[in-house]
Amino acid sequence: MTRQPASPAPPDRTVTPDVPPSGNAPRPWQLAAAALSITPLLRYAVARHAVPPGTDRRAGCDACGAPISLHRPWPALGPTARCGGCGARVGAPPAIVELTVLAAVAALLLARPPAVEVVVAAWWLAFAVPLLFIDLAVHRLPDRLTVPAAAGVWLLLGLAALTGAGAAPWLRAIGAGLGMALFFAATTLLLGTRGFGIGDAKLALSAGALLGWYGWSLPVLGLLLALTLSGLVALALLISGRASWSSHLPFGPYLVLGTLGALLLVW
Ligand SMILES: [Zn+2]
Repeated sequence: MTRQPASPAPPDRTVTPDVPPSGNAPRPWQLAAAALSITPLLRYAVARHAVPPGTDRRAGCDACGAPISLHRPWPALGPTARCGGCGARVGAPPAIVELTVLAAVAALLLARPPAVEVVVAAWWLAFAVPLLFIDLAVHRLPDRLTVPAAAGVWLLLGLAALTGAGAAPWLRAIGAGLGMALFFAATTLLLGTRGFGIGDAKLALSAGALLGWYGWSLPVLGLLLALTLSGLVALALLISGRASWSSHLPFGPYLVLGTLGALLLVW
């Protein structure tokens, strides 16, 4: 660990506006370390919620019952994802959450969106990353994650609107979130289990709003990216015999990736 030299205090703190000088901007390794430090929390969300519908949230190891908690996160909520008691796997596969978070940090560092938009994206990712792994594992997008994701994105974009961006992009973001959610909900009503799920509709409330902030074309682009990606994966699974025409594939992971892909194009 290296210590930063203490910067000299300004002569008069009472009149100096509290704006940090650009030299104090966090370095990439500091951002990566900060992001990695929350991965036990993300793993905890996956372990708790990746359970079949109608069952209680997971409180302990499936094999030996050792509790899974944030008070003692290691090793179950670390990158090895192994129960400390019996060594059985817990939650998302080893290292994958950590690599996903590092990839997201790298993307944000390369794209350099404005600070407010980094905060909104970070909030959304804190829910979208666990949702991605939960949907892959059990084909569910729990309300306990989709609802706070949407509420936070709407509120934080509202703050961005109040502090300079204006009402127009915020109203467009809300409209895009509601529009995308209605699209998913309509396919569920029309096609039943062959359509998207209501969980996808709730995730779209936040994904659509994030994209709609930048214009009406971006939600469409994000949706097209998600549909293309899921179509390609479904085709590959069909050809390789690992899925049939009646298989139900989760769409949440593609919605997350499509949203990120579209955001990276606009940042
Ligand atoms: Zn165990």
